[in-house]
Amino acid sequence: MRCAKFRRGVLCAALAVFGVAWSLGSATADELKVQDIRIGVHPGSTRFVVELNDNVEPRVFGLPDPYRVVIDLPEVDFDLPEERIGDGAGLISKLRYGLFQPGTSRFVLDLSSPSRVTKQFMLKPAGGKPWRLVLDLTPTTRADFVVSMRPSAEDNPNPVTRVPVPAAPRQNEKPVVVVDAGHGGVDPGAIGVSGVYEKKIALDYAREIVQELKASGKYEVVMTRDRDIFLPLRERVRLSRAAGADLFLSLHANTHPKRRTRGFSVYTLSDRASDKEAAALAALENKSDVIGGVNLGDYSDDVQNILIDFAQAKTNELSVKFARDILVGEVKTSASLLTRPWRSAGFAVLKAPDVPSVLVELGYISNPQEERLLVTATHRQKLSRAIVQAVETYFETTQSAAL
Ligand SMILES: [Zn+2]
Repeated sequence: MRCAKFRRGVLCAALAVFGVAWSLGSATADELKVQDIRIGVHPGSTRFVVELNDNVEPRVFGLPDPYRVVIDLPEVDFDLPEERIGDGAGLISKLRYGLFQPGTSRFVLDLSSPSRVTKQFMLKPAGGKPWRLVLDLTPTTRADFVVSMRPSAEDNPNPVTRVPVPAAPRQNEKPVVVVDAGHGGVDPGAIGVSGVYEKKIALDYAREIVQELKASGKYEVVMTRDRDIFLPLRERVRLSRAAGADLFLSLHANTHPKRRTRGFSVYTLSDRASDKEAAALAALENKSDVIGGVNLGDYSDDVQNILIDFAQAKTNELSVKFARDILVGEVKTSASLLTRPWRSAGFAVLKAPDVPSVLVELGYISNPQEERLLVTATHRQKLSRAIVQAVETYFETTQSAAL
């Protein structure tokens, strides 16, 4: 069912009621569902309404720089009549939602100016409408926003420490490859011309690559995420190190203001970007935590400042060997390449000092042909095989060099 963005029409309202009734009928007792989202713009305030099949107790808080309101709910199924990630209205400039961590689903409302939640309540089902969470936002000053909307420790659990990872060194002899599907959950990543999300492409390719790597029997393979869930950048780095990774592959899809730009590219870490486009891309990719509603104040100096020290020089040499000398050559016959397909910049997700790490941009989802190609199973298999072949060549050559 597709209605106008902010539906006011009688027909649309009737369809919505029908949709809700149908969803309620099919819901099982323990599935919490978000059934619709509405934004109402009023003089001096903006109302955000979430329709649910049950009562909830949300945790609501604000984060500055940029101004965001975060609404955490228990894990829910987003069963919306239409996808609503994208532009907001009124005081809400952008809207995102998705799984933030196991057990917690999150809305992130980007604000056009500092605004506080002046009213927050649940409405019981009535008049054909299900449970509704209602939040009213009103403009305020920065100082008031920072004080009145600040998260308590419980509201914003430090996501960096939440995934238990064994600290013990690995026992096996096989090289460990960590495959990182970029973005996820509340962070959709880039959005393609036809609406496909980068997070989905990244996960589909990660699964394909992992399957191929495992089938070879030569590697220990670890995924940073294997579902549609948010993961902070530093957590990805930490997981890679804790797994004792010998190679870290972060998978992404790119966009460009010029629609004709297309092609595969691979990036390594450097404290000086190889070109302006690589610097802009790194800035964009490094925003994932802001997008996901993480309080960067917890570790801003760590994520934002990237300086390659002596210990990283050898690691970086290996990253460049894999990216420039091997991967580009393997992919050449399977996909079109961007001009200068190997570039470098300050990507936060590549900063493990002891793990050769590359960030792969599988292609441009702002290019209509490439977006269509990237979602086909044929291209996914072809490109994934080329990447796996590059991994094999890399370990064959580095292992023989070590003998
Ligand atoms: Zn990305």
